Amino acid sequence: MSILILAACQRSAPVELPELARAPYRPDSGNLLIQCGSLIDGRSDEVRENVSVLIEDGRFGRVAGGFAAPPEVPVLDLSEYTCLPGLIEMHAHILESFEELVDLTLYYGYSLDDFMEKGREYSQLSIDAGFTTVRNLAAYYGWADRELRDEINRGESIGPRLQAAGFYLTIPGGGGDLLEVGGSEDAIPQHLRMGVSRSTEQFRRNAQTAVDGGADLAYGGIPGEPEMTAEDIKAVVDVAHTAGLRVAAHAHGAQSIREAILAGADTIEHATYIDEKGIRLAIEHDVALSMDVGAGDWMIEEGRKQGWIEEFLRKTIETTQVQRENFKKAHEARATIVYGTDVSIYPHGMNAIQFAYMVEWGMSPMEAIKSATSVAARHMGWEDRVGAIQTGLFGDLVAVRGDPLADISTLEQVEAVVKGGLVFKAPPGKTR
Ligand SMILES: [Zn+2]
Repeated sequence: MSILILAACQRSAPVELPELARAPYRPDSGNLLIQCGSLIDGRSDEVRENVSVLIEDGRFGRVAGGFAAPPEVPVLDLSEYTCLPGLIEMHAHILESFEELVDLTLYYGYSLDDFMEKGREYSQLSIDAGFTTVRNLAAYYGWADRELRDEINRGESIGPRLQAAGFYLTIPGGGGDLLEVGGSEDAIPQHLRMGVSRSTEQFRRNAQTAVDGGADLAYGGIPGEPEMTAEDIKAVVDVAHTAGLRVAAHAHGAQSIREAILAGADTIEHATYIDEKGIRLAIEHDVALSMDVGAGDWMIEEGRKQGWIEEFLRKTIETTQVQRENFKKAHEARATIVYGTDVSIYPHGMNAIQFAYMVEWGMSPMEAIKSATSVAARHMGWEDRVGAIQTGLFGDLVAVRGDPLADISTLEQVEAVVKGGLVFKAPPGKTR
């Protein structure tokens, strides 16, 4: 039947190819029909074959069987590909990269333009990799991620839908502060320390500044041993939740994880040393774990090449192993795990390498895909916008050759990327 329709189409007017989007563009304005060989919609476990996905004014319209194309809509032929919803990265630092990790004081001299230039490059790489939505867990340069978000939303540069945290909420010298051990606070420009707080009251004020300034979420750092007190976290949660925003808590240690959950955090970042009690609490409080189990091997390999400090390497090897074992335990206990990779500690655009680790450590391929689509969307409060190929949501779709359910690593080779119905990447010959 579909062959007949195709033949009929070929005899009438030739199919119009979509244009490849270039900046500047009008975001979420695309009208497009996508013919998918297979389709994974991000919510259902079912895989559909030979499906046409219509996008109208940037949003998904009808999803129907067969390849019948309505006239006057450009057609993106992905009939030899598997289509999935645009992927979601829950833990990125999109204006920063591992290249500066060796010497964080490099940032002291960076202007906003320096950060923005990098941010634009990394945003393009995220899109090329199929990550059309990214939660940015703060910027060293206060509000740089908001600037980048707004620039992309105006269609002036190409990048994912960004949730911006604005700046790190942290104690002096904590995770997210650039204060080097033994360094002087006076040496650091104030714009790099907007969220550094010395009391619960100051955490509350800084969280309010983030909310008032247009942050999409709040991000607090609680690494290793607890740094922010339970009261500090509660103050941030209070301000953010009152404004309808979520709170991401950076927590490695078992105790800080428990405290962050009990204080009302919505996602736990890293969760390296989470214990059984922490897993139970996360489930009870519907808190998602964002465990970056993918980056360790790359860091260790790269670190050896670059001669990183042995102590740092030893710690990375140790925490990588522990975190993966705890990932497995958390998943077996049915805790919710979202796709957060901490991209920046390994190269931007390689976000998808984590899928294979999540499957190796216990997830089914479909579970891993959902962790980066519908499940992620729900835990970032954007389930009415992204995370599924479903009527009414933004027309964000990616495609790979082959079957990601048989080989999850195919997601590392995304060949087509559509965001808001605009085509940002396509196989050769499929666009004009
Ligand atoms: Zn991070």
